[in-house]
Amino acid sequence: MEENAAPEFDFTLINEYFAGMERQGPGCPEETVRALSFTGKLSKESKIADLGCGSGSQTMVLARHTEGTITALDLYPGSIDRLNTAAGKLGVRNRVKGIVGSMDDLPFGKEELDLIWSEGAIANIGFEKGLNYWKGFLKKGGYVAVTYESWFTNERPGEIEKWWTDAVPEINTIGHNILTMQNAGYIPVAAFTLPESCWIDNYFNLQKPRREEFLKEHPGNETAEALVAAMVQEEELYHKYKQYYGYVFYVGKKIGL
Ligand code: SAM
Repeated sequence: MEENAAPEFDFTLINEYFAGMERQGPGCPEETVRALSFTGKLSKESKIADLGCGSGSQTMVLARHTEGTITALDLYPGSIDRLNTAAGKLGVRNRVKGIVGSMDDLPFGKEELDLIWSEGAIANIGFEKGLNYWKGFLKKGGYVAVTYESWFTNERPGEIEKWWTDAVPEINTIGHNILTMQNAGYIPVAAFTLPESCWIDNYFNLQKPRREEFLKEHPGNETAEALVAAMVQEEELYHKYKQYYGYVFYVGKKIGL
């Protein structure tokens, strides 16, 4: 959910729009697994945090492909309830726990975590700020893996530049973001773009049946109508300008042994 794309919309209303959807942002299980392949050796003792986890689509992928303990954190309680239900269904409730909280006020100890994960959420507190703040909770040699909205080219048409700069003021190119990661004290170990299918199949197409239903739930509500219109516009702009931007997975290793 590009919640920053529609700053006038209430956080709860946006989350309500995404209620029932498998994902709240672009992403794919295969790309989560691909990013995980860069994060070093994990064990049963490993401690993992998934920040801005939403209802936990990627958390369940992490649970299936790792043996460690996962704490998944999101500001929206409805998503955390769904995540904990999903963990129960997957039989991993003993090592996967969803908690309500904010990613800029983490409940972890200093250098406690082996891996910090975050798909489509770091922009809520800022890429640079998030990487710097989260590093304190990572063990030396621990990894961070995030997806983040990024420009693919140095220049782009004004219409899309404005949309994304309004949504994510800090948005920048892949090269710039890699340097930001390095300056924050990580060795950048991987950066790769999410394929279009992660946007189309797992984000836009999931919203299509929901839009009408959501409007029926909020009859005559102009804010709800404007929210749906903004989501439709986001999809139209993606099809028009997808060669200029997308989500990029950035994986970094905290410096130090
Ligand atoms: N990771 C999920 C996915 O890819 O499907 C959800 C991504 S969604 C685009 C962004 C998530 O960040 C939402 O679930 C939202 O509730 C959460 N969020 C926004 N601000 C937050 C904050 N300060 N702390 C924790 N979660 C936050």
